[in-house]
Amino acid sequence: MSPLRPYSKSRLARLSKEGRGLNGTFAAKTMPEIISAKQAQHEATRAAIRDLQKAAKSLDKPTVTPEEARALVKPRPKKKEEITRAQAEKLADAAYSQFRRLEASDDNGILRCFICRRPVKWNRAHLMHFHTRAGRTLRFHDQGTQPGCRECNGKPNGDRDNYALRLDAEYGAGTAERLTIESKTMTKRTTIELLEMARDYRLRVERIKEESPNKFSK
Ligand SMILES: [Zn+2]
Repeated sequence: MSPLRPYSKSRLARLSKEGRGLNGTFAAKTMPEIISAKQAQHEATRAAIRDLQKAAKSLDKPTVTPEEARALVKPRPKKKEEITRAQAEKLADAAYSQFRRLEASDDNGILRCFICRRPVKWNRAHLMHFHTRAGRTLRFHDQGTQPGCRECNGKPNGDRDNYALRLDAEYGAGTAERLTIESKTMTKRTTIELLEMARDYRLRVERIKEESPNKFSK
C-alpha cells in the first residue's frame, strides 16, 4: 500500500471549495441544495434551448429588410382587377341565387313562389331573403332564403308575415322565430371564403346546365 500523498495547499483549497472532505469523504448535500442545483441545471438547459431557438430564428431571417426588398423589385402597378370583399360578396350572392332558383325548378325551369305558390320561370324569379342580407348570417341560408316571384318580393317588407307563415308550414312551428333570432347574429366571411362560395355555386349551376339543359331553354 503506497503511503498517502500529502495534501498540497492548493489541493486542500480545491477540495474545500468543492465541499469535499479529506480521504474521499464528501459533504452530503442537503435537500434544498440538491433542489437548487437541479433548478440551476434546468435553467441552464432552458437557456441553451432559447439560444438554439434564437439561432434558428436568425437563420430564417431575410438578409434584406422588407423595405430594401421592395426597392429591389420593380414597383408593381396596383391590379385593377383585384376584387374587393363587397364585390366577392356580390359574386357569391349572384351564384347562390342562381343555384337556388335552378335547384327549386322542375325540368322545364319552372318553380313555385315560396309565398304565393304561383309558377314562375327560374330566371324571372327572385331569391327572397326572409331577413335583410345586412346581418349576413342568413345570406346563404337554405331556409332563410327562398325562391319566389317578383310581386311577393316587391311587397313592403317582402311580405314578411306570409313568408313567416310559409316557413313554419314548411319546416315546422317556430322556424320563422328561430331564423329571426339567428339573423341578429353576425357572420363575417372573408373575401377568399366568398370567392370560394361563388366558385362552388357556379360549378353547381354548370352541373345543372349539363344535366338539365331544358331548364335553360326559352
Ligand atoms: Zn309570389
